[in-house]
Amino acid sequence: MHTAGLHAVRQNGKDMKNCQECGEPIIGRMDKKFCSDLCRNSFNNRLNSNSHNFVRNINNQLKKNRRILEALCPDDKSKVTKSILLSKGFDFNHITHIRPTLKGSIYHFVYDYGYLELDHDFYLIVKDNRLEK
Ligand SMILES: [Zn+2]
Repeated sequence: MHTAGLHAVRQNGKDMKNCQECGEPIIGRMDKKFCSDLCRNSFNNRLNSNSHNFVRNINNQLKKNRRILEALCPDDKSKVTKSILLSKGFDFNHITHIRPTLKGSIYHFVYDYGYLELDHDFYLIVKDNRLEK
């Protein structure tokens, strides 16, 4: 995502801003975000494209999954049932990575929170503290 346009800088005593699409300096009113209609259109087309929405929806679900794990695991470890996870809206299809242990268990991670399927529909939630070291 372009952020160049968010920073207005002063050059030669004049307020300068850059196009959010191409990064070129914008001439004219300070509230303009794009240098041309072409740039505004291509920026908006990308924002509304299916692939952009697809990525955004997955990112939102991943963040939601992480929030659920974080709420259910206030300490380093916690044990919950599958129905609790599902009732909060947890989606088991959206994880960021998996990590097998030496003993052959496979932890599924959503960023820094992981879970391990136990017997009888229980899940162990763990926080990966290695990230904080
Ligand atoms: Zn432009």
